[in-house]
Amino acid sequence: MSEDASLDQFVTDESDERREESPVVESDPGAAEDPPGPEAPADVEPATTTYAWSDEGAVCDECDDTVERRWQQDGGLVCVECKDWERA
Ligand SMILES: [Zn+2]
Repeated sequence: MSEDASLDQFVTDESDERREESPVVESDPGAAEDPPGPEAPADVEPATTTYAWSDEGAVCDECDDTVERRWQQDGGLVCVECKDWERA
């Protein structure tokens, strides 16, 4: 009879320990719940995707112009003139 009581206590103690560790484990399922973010502003600034900046200027892969800012396109870097914004 007393064994039952001690077993009960043991289970309670263990659950308390688990509760302390749970926040770390539960952070994953919580992150999976993606709240609907503000995706509309992304349409306004397509230029914020992936571009390279060079103070001295760099050569565009398409027209060989030397420009400070180039955007990734077809695995290369092109100037603003050659960047196909509508396709991106
Ligand atoms: Zn170009």
